[in-house]
Amino acid sequence: MTPEEFRRYGKQVIDWIADYHEKIESYPVLSRVRPGEVAAGVPEHPPERGEGFDALLADLDRVIMPGITHWQHPGFFAYFPSNVSGPAILGDLLSAGIGIQGMLWATSPACTELETRVLDWLAELMDLPARFRGGGVIQDSASSAVLVVILAALQRAAGGTAARDGIDRRHTIYVSSQTHSSLEKAARITGIGAANVRVVDVDPRTLAMDPAHLDALLTEDAAAGAVPVLVCATVGTTSTTAVDPVPEIGAVCRAHGVWLHVDAAYAGAAAVCPEFRWINAGVEDHADSYATNPHKWLLTNFDCTALWVADREPLTGALSILPEYLRNTATTSGEVIDYRDWQIPLGRRFRALKLWSVIRWYGAEGLREHIRTGVGLARDLAGWIRDDPDFELFEEPKFGLVCFRPRWKGLPDAEADAATLAVMERLNASGDLYLTHTRARGHVLLRLAIGGPATGDQHVRNAWERVRQESGQVRLGGHV
Ligand code: PLP
Repeated sequence: MTPEEFRRYGKQVIDWIADYHEKIESYPVLSRVRPGEVAAGVPEHPPERGEGFDALLADLDRVIMPGITHWQHPGFFAYFPSNVSGPAILGDLLSAGIGIQGMLWATSPACTELETRVLDWLAELMDLPARFRGGGVIQDSASSAVLVVILAALQRAAGGTAARDGIDRRHTIYVSSQTHSSLEKAARITGIGAANVRVVDVDPRTLAMDPAHLDALLTEDAAAGAVPVLVCATVGTTSTTAVDPVPEIGAVCRAHGVWLHVDAAYAGAAAVCPEFRWINAGVEDHADSYATNPHKWLLTNFDCTALWVADREPLTGALSILPEYLRNTATTSGEVIDYRDWQIPLGRRFRALKLWSVIRWYGAEGLREHIRTGVGLARDLAGWIRDDPDFELFEEPKFGLVCFRPRWKGLPDAEADAATLAVMERLNASGDLYLTHTRARGHVLLRLAIGGPATGDQHVRNAWERVRQESGQVRLGGHV
């Protein structure tokens, strides 16, 4: 493709994306294709001769779009939001266009230095501790972030020998039943093993981790000869956005000399607003590492997880290898960061460009407005649910996630849960909205996560109306 052809098709692609966002509400939120349908529309064999880009754009509409679930649709309320924004898309495009690979400082100094600086900006915006400054790195996901953090924690727990000698003792990590599954995955990958993921009790009402039980488990395990390595506290759990008591958990970690990782993948973004800084309690005094996903709720296209470590030494100790072919004067001078030593892969994209672009476009003010809009809409919805005798609100939303269920008077629990799921299936099949479910305090709950940049008051009102309608239909269908 010549630069001239690139210019022509590039303009078409930008127009295509702008048109897509303009007409996104005309699509059913959840894709309706059946398994294999998209693959059936793609030839089994690659073309022998190049085809030009017009044919691809046509196939994009014909073959691909039916198989898209529209995460940026204002009626997308499933999981957690996965924000995109114009400046993030353009920043990502620039990254692709410049086409560098930033594994070493020397392979593009700007990639490394902008990343460190932009994560310092983000730490400042979120009022994270000063000791994280200079210790930030962009990972592809919160899962990768916690994987490298566990490797760092193992390195520290083993007095710096884990990278060389591996682990030959029983190492344990500590989570709650509400912690994201990425912790167990990381335990499997690192060789700690799923059986050594110790599950700390939660407060049955708030679903937050119980620090006293954590203390008891740590004491018990150490007495039995295990080496406790890491505790993961979550700020905003995936299921219901529970917030673990980080100050108390941190004090326990400190007493036992265990690494504290704070997983704020979704909710951390809220700390751009001063009124949400309470979620940072305990981080300053206790956290060894902290991760949040601007690719969830901070207007930055996937993938962009911000990870900070207070001490980079165990992390680079765990991951740094310097083969001859990577040796260069900047690295050996010790004056620069080589981010390949902070992550699993060697190569890395210039992801800081999109975050830089987002922060500069919106400014702190714009980011705060985005968070406040989502939280405000969630509170409105919670109010309507609370005022409706046919529904039960799980709790006041702390952030943008509202958990609730229809009341199924007189129905045994299992049937009530089935009826709640039936409402969800009907809503999702309608194409009007997409929401997911969880189970908490013994019941299936609907999870309606607000926070997409296109979602406004009318979309939340419509969603609520549709929930009421479909709940009514399920009732009429003989479930009560
Ligand atoms: N931690 C929490 C609390 C999450 O909610 C999620 C995803 O929803 C993750 C970790 C995993 O995020 P990622 O997809 O970036 O690995």
